[in-house]
Amino acid sequence: MPANILLVEDEPAIQELIAFNLTQAGHHVLRASTAEAALTLVKNALPDLVLLDWMLPGVSGIEVAKRLRADERTRHVPIIMLTARSDEQDKIVGLETGADDYITKPFSPRELLARIKAVLRRRAPQMTDDTVEIRGLKLDPVTHRVSGAEAPIDLGPTEFRLLHFFMTHPERVHSRSQLLDQVWGDHVFVEERTVDVHIRRLRSALEPTGHDALIQTVRGTGYRFSAQG
Ligand code: CA
Repeated sequence: MPANILLVEDEPAIQELIAFNLTQAGHHVLRASTAEAALTLVKNALPDLVLLDWMLPGVSGIEVAKRLRADERTRHVPIIMLTARSDEQDKIVGLETGADDYITKPFSPRELLARIKAVLRRRAPQMTDDTVEIRGLKLDPVTHRVSGAEAPIDLGPTEFRLLHFFMTHPERVHSRSQLLDQVWGDHVFVEERTVDVHIRRLRSALEPTGHDALIQTVRGTGYRFSAQG
């Protein structure tokens, strides 16, 4: 489950230690020592998760969390607050600001990695490497294998990511621009009809086993993956 993690921490030794552990665990780490640097990095590319120190020089971590939550583009980025405070009241403030979790220093690398995994699973299920299965359609993110009623299905990389996103976010309508953000990546400039092209390819790959019916067109809005039929 390698993720792009933005680490915002002003104490060099702690930043180094956390970055080392995250990298060892296979994550890609971007580092920032101030709120301003963090917000600039987020502007360039959306991370999969933000590890955010509460006490930063100048603009605080809490303020960064508030800004990320207030912006449509960054609203859904998972945030874990890092802090030396263990006050229950502070924890409540942190979570109310929109942080997904809260971890008190000092913490063990194992605890941190477990929290990251839990938050990613909850907030971005397509980031985890759990096998998903819906109505006999099975997708394994580790081996990149897809099968329908036990028969292997061959998918291109984009169709694979599209299907993984659909299967981890079923029963919801996704607009073309949401799909572009989530599947193609942030700040990728492709036309919205590109989505339709890949949906068509995905449907035709799923057609032999009848799983194409799971992908519904919602007129005027976008697409929905539904097992309700
Ligand atoms: Ca600090």
